[in-house]
Amino acid sequence: MRVLFHEISFSTNKRVQIVDLTGEVRAIANRWGVSNGMLLVFAPHATASIILNEAEPGLERDILNLFEAVAPADVDYHHNRIDNNAHAHLRSVVFPPYVVIPVRNGKMLLGTWQRIMFVENDGPRARRTVIVEYIGE
Ligand code: ZN
Repeated sequence: MRVLFHEISFSTNKRVQIVDLTGEVRAIANRWGVSNGMLLVFAPHATASIILNEAEPGLERDILNLFEAVAPADVDYHHNRIDNNAHAHLRSVVFPPYVVIPVRNGKMLLGTWQRIMFVENDGPRARRTVIVEYIGE
């Protein structure tokens, strides 16, 4: 069994934003020569999310609207007594900052329309990190 790690770093430039990581994760998996196992894609952040969905511009706006509806920014949250980003934390609770993707015969078993998307809930940020971990053969 192999356990492999890689860290992706990038910046975000909007308050809320979707960053498509699919190509980078696939390139890492190909470089490793994965075969059968699973890939964890994990953001060590309390105000970000990672989702699997379609990268269609209209749907991306709908997704960001869903996040806003789940935890609107303009609510008087308790956490905002010491910070200004309770809504971003709450979105990360409802939409957690990780996904797990099965890998079979060297391929991630993503559905046709599934992309690996990092959701920035509290940007812009100079540095966001995503850890890719492979456990398998
Ligand atoms: Zn906070």
